[in-house]
Amino acid sequence: MPGTVVFGIDVESAAEDAAGFARYAAELFSALDTPVTWYLTGKTLERYPEIFQEIERGGLIDLQAHTYNHLLLKTVLIQIPAGRVVHGSTGWFLQRGGTLPEIEEDLDRCQRVFADVLGRRATALTTPWGYYRGLGDRPDLLEIVYQQGFRVLRSFGRDARDGQPVPLAWQPFPYRVQGYPDLLEIMIHDYQDEFYWRAFAAPPDKASYVDHLKAVAQQVATGNLVWSLCSHDSGSGTREDFARTKGWFREVLHYAKGLGMQFLTATQYYQAVMAASLATEEPHVHHR
Ligand SMILES: [Zn+2]
Repeated sequence: MPGTVVFGIDVESAAEDAAGFARYAAELFSALDTPVTWYLTGKTLERYPEIFQEIERGGLIDLQAHTYNHLLLKTVLIQIPAGRVVHGSTGWFLQRGGTLPEIEEDLDRCQRVFADVLGRRATALTTPWGYYRGLGDRPDLLEIVYQQGFRVLRSFGRDARDGQPVPLAWQPFPYRVQGYPDLLEIMIHDYQDEFYWRAFAAPPDKASYVDHLKAVAQQVATGNLVWSLCSHDSGSGTREDFARTKGWFREVLHYAKGLGMQFLTATQYYQAVMAASLATEEPHVHHR
């Protein structure tokens, strides 16, 4: 099998970008009949309940969580490569994570919005900014997200310098060592969007992000890998903006499908992994 794409998009702005994105991206993914996961901040879902209720009824797009208020679960400390400017900084850049009580309150509020608007809780969580090792070195945070009902995390999105790319050699894994064999980390691979590719890789101005992603797709197909591809709702307020900033979606999806790759939502991928693990592994003792 020539690879699997788990495409996930942060829909987080709680403003016109989110509403525009929801409209134009839903049209696109429906037209291409391509499953995708959108990770909504609770604020965004709360602001546009009807829009997302309609998308939920469509059944193609998996609506999941991106915290209520885009709160970081871990502090990010980026060692910026020499000669690069990231987040307007050189040298080092720090973005502070929330405290445990703040995180518990935020995730609880997010889940209450999901229950109010969609009549269910979210089961997958993209943690703002993404971190090195995901939550693997933070069993206290794993306990919180597990208690909140999350079984899929997209929290491992940086390398040892808190930068990117995240190599494809690092593939999704369950948090088994930490005692949560049914909690799956699906990563964010490569660069989390074009702006990070431009900041960290500093390609020539005329280099195309689509060409870069096609090369990634080739690597995924050759290695039969899982590719957790990421994007955001930014720059999607109007149809023209969406066409300009997300024009690569259509081209990359076509290309990946041409290579024979399958597309799965986070939920579909989780179910496939868990079914395979039940079929092949010895029974494990659950941590509770
Ligand atoms: Zn985000």
